[in-house]
Amino acid sequence: MTAPTGTFKDAIFRWFEPATLAFILLMWSLLPAETASNPLTILAATLTTRAVVLGLEFVGERHAGWRLNRRELLTDLFYLVLGYTVIQAVNNEVIDGGLLALKAQLGIATPGLAQLPLAVQALLILFIIEFGQYWLHRAMHNWRPLWLLHAPHHHLTQLNALKGGVGNPLELILVFASVVALFDFSLPALFCAGHLVTAITCFAHANVRFKAPAWYGFFFTTVAHHSLHHSVAYDDTRCNYANSLIILDRLFGTFRVGETDTVGQGERRRLSIREQFLFPVLPAINGANERPGIPAE
Ligand SMILES: [Zn+2]
Ligand SMILES: [Zn+2]
Repeated sequence: MTAPTGTFKDAIFRWFEPATLAFILLMWSLLPAETASNPLTILAATLTTRAVVLGLEFVGERHAGWRLNRRELLTDLFYLVLGYTVIQAVNNEVIDGGLLALKAQLGIATPGLAQLPLAVQALLILFIIEFGQYWLHRAMHNWRPLWLLHAPHHHLTQLNALKGGVGNPLELILVFASVVALFDFSLPALFCAGHLVTAITCFAHANVRFKAPAWYGFFFTTVAHHSLHHSVAYDDTRCNYANSLIILDRLFGTFRVGETDTVGQGERRRLSIREQFLFPVLPAINGANERPGIPAE
């Protein structure tokens, strides 16, 4: 007797997220040092992960209202290219470059870190990145100047695999930034952690009917968690701030359980790329976006 097709598909959507994270940790641990230190490897690895998750949207859709159309896909691809070029270059040169100079000036050295197993280093890096991102993201929802940068991401009217990289460019630079450059982790471990963050952020925005085991959702952000963060009512967005490690919301009292398929600030007003770029300086757009919970200064 053969199992019904649905059972096999259900198993894929149940195990895809944890299995992918395990695969990423294993892959980077086993790659030859030269390959694991090559920037082309992380480029190919993250692009493949994004492509697979995007493909799953066509196999196991979560919400019909989030179905990709040509306009959404082109916007997502525009930001994908921007992320891998300008945003990444600014982060490498300005933020990481500045931190490396500071590190040299202060004589900060943590030579033991690179001796740890790669998976341990990668999980430490993930935690450092996410801890900073949690508080930055929470500040974005509580301080108006930062909210104006972040709001374009919340004007998204649907979630898809590549939507984690869609927003105002200045916000994207901040979202990619971290203090990890102050530590002496190995380059393959940094790449592995970057791959993990990319994968989890991709899962958390994907229009895929993932249904991971409860233990996975205890530690890692899922699309159900993140959809609530994209709620229409502004006050309902003030939860589930962690992009990857939802356990931080559990620890700091901002976790909310549930899911929504209706997302988008400003009465679900979709912004064009131009509006996303100009949002913080265009009163005509953001004047309609005042939120009672956000302090004026
Ligand atoms: Zn947010
Ligand atoms: Zn988001």
